[in-house]
Amino acid sequence: MAPTYIVMLGPPGAGKGTQAKKLAQKLDLVHVSTGDLFRENLKNETELGQLAQQYMNEGELVPDDVTIRMVEERLSRPDCEEGAVLDGFPRTPAQAKALDDLLKKFGSSVKVVPYIKVADEALVERLSGRWMSPSGRVYHEKYNPPTVKWIDDIDGSQLYQREDDKPATVRHRIEVYNEQTAPLIEYYRDKDLLVEIDGTQSIEEVTEDIMKAVEEA
Ligand code: ADP
Ligand code: ADP
Repeated sequence: MAPTYIVMLGPPGAGKGTQAKKLAQKLDLVHVSTGDLFRENLKNETELGQLAQQYMNEGELVPDDVTIRMVEERLSRPDCEEGAVLDGFPRTPAQAKALDDLLKKFGSSVKVVPYIKVADEALVERLSGRWMSPSGRVYHEKYNPPTVKWIDDIDGSQLYQREDDKPATVRHRIEVYNEQTAPLIEYYRDKDLLVEIDGTQSIEEVTEDIMKAVEEA
């Protein structure tokens, strides 16, 4: 069977990572987050990480050629044979085109694009309360708190706040999203792949709606 690829679309803070993890688990697919991949490279001080660092701290996008190469490499690994839930990629029309070309090579295509809609005003609160675990798990001080403050429920590690979740950078990331990523809404709508999801609901309700969209695709 051709591999299954799902693209999570939505502004920073909409809940893409939270939902992509649940979806990947339910569907037994790999969760591929370009943000996580860049952060891993940063931590390991690779050449790619050094290149990405400045863009990330300023809330700018890492250049397309670098990002596309990283994703091509990731999706070509054996664990992605059945497909993947893509989170944070594509983020530009050039990335979307590159993804289409790559999946064609794999004998597949994007199956469905859940577009998680949340108004700009709510995003700042979501991101400024976001607590990250080094393993990539995502909490929120108010909406998805860990049992013990600042401690990961699963492995007990210390949670942290992302450098780029400070209000000034957050506002810039939302602008970058509106300019460079929002055009993908029409791109996928034209291909009849887009399903709008009300991202202001509870985490569980959003998961339910996304699962329905995937089952009906
Ligand atoms: P969020 O989902 O909270 O907006 P991510 O963790 O997806 O943030 O991304 C963090 C940063 O990593 C982005 O601001 C950008 O600098 C870089 N990045 C992630 N994905 C991409 C991408 N597809 N293209 C370019 N840059 C990216
Ligand atoms: P994205 O990957 O789109 O940037 P995240 O999944 O990291 O978004 O979610 C951003 C923040 O909002 C996190 O702190 C997360 O716990 C919280 N969050 C996610 N979904 C919801 C929701 N439906 N309601 C309230 N808070 C949410």
